[in-house]
Amino acid sequence: SLNQSLAELNGDINVSFEFFPPATPEMETLLWNSIQRLQPLQPKFVSVTYGANSGVRDRTHGVIERIQKETDLVAAPHLTLVDASDEELLQLAKHYWNSGIRNIVALRGDLPEGSPKPTRFAADLVRLLRSVADFDISVAAYPEVHPEAANAQADLVNLKRKIDAGANRAITQFFFDIEAYLRFRDRCVAAGIDVEIVPGILPVTNFKQLKRFAGMTNVNLPGWLHQQFEGLDEDPSTRSLVGASVAIDMVKVLSREGVKDFHFYTLNRAELTYAICHILGVRPKASAAE
Ligand code: FAD
Repeated sequence: SLNQSLAELNGDINVSFEFFPPATPEMETLLWNSIQRLQPLQPKFVSVTYGANSGVRDRTHGVIERIQKETDLVAAPHLTLVDASDEELLQLAKHYWNSGIRNIVALRGDLPEGSPKPTRFAADLVRLLRSVADFDISVAAYPEVHPEAANAQADLVNLKRKIDAGANRAITQFFFDIEAYLRFRDRCVAAGIDVEIVPGILPVTNFKQLKRFAGMTNVNLPGWLHQQFEGLDEDPSTRSLVGASVAIDMVKVLSREGVKDFHFYTLNRAELTYAICHILGVRPKASAAE
């Protein structure tokens, strides 16, 4: 049965958690409570987004430093190359390496509105990082195709370029169409991409916000998902239960399909991610709980 096969996978699952730099003191408290709550699950790494939606980039470095100082977690800053010169990126990469950072999530970053066609891409950043030191590098992948890609094949070839440049794994954009992820994973294998295509799981707490965001990112919100959240706009507690149910169903199917690595877009909240990890068999480790 489904539950039995999950139990058999216990101990085999690797998780990573993504956070974003908080903009207010209240959000800062939320973030650190969440990090404390999730820490005993001993994720492979925790990542902190850069630039996107936060405005101030220095905030990323601040959160990363505090994670290093106050926890035993592996901190992985996201790094984007839009509006940074190669020289600046080299300096930052050296600084990170010298301060003990070994994991980086390497991205191009979203283009500011009205900017000219880009000439540098994430693959260039991977190459630059590799030239500095032996980082563990994660890159982005898009099961439903990046909005700027000429077509699905070109986007796949781009992912291959990032892996060939030295990336260690791909983390996907969030998705709800599991078939789309599974087909994409098959196409990666067929293209000779031999790293994990780690599904990015977004536990949904605010469906209204998700609808806005999904439109910008080319992520399909299937009819069944709309139906699940219908009528709950003013009912956050039911929404959160429904969000947990949706995400738990997803990870059950994915783990049955052999997925062993999961990346969680926590949105700085611990509750749903913690519950999903529990279901996956990811439990507090004795050594961390002592
Ligand atoms: P790339 O891999 O460079 O691809 C960008 C586009 O260009 C694709 O359409 C690709 O097909 C195309 N392309 C690539 N090479 C070429 C070429 N030589 N010629 C023509 N076209 C080409 N954004 C942030 O700002 N901060 C973050 O912290 C952040 N974290 C993220 C984490 C994850 C896991 C994911 C999935 C996304 C994240 N993003 C973040 C968003 C990301 O920056 C955007 O999706 C961005 O638009 C593309 O970044 P990329 O690294 O995928 O770019």
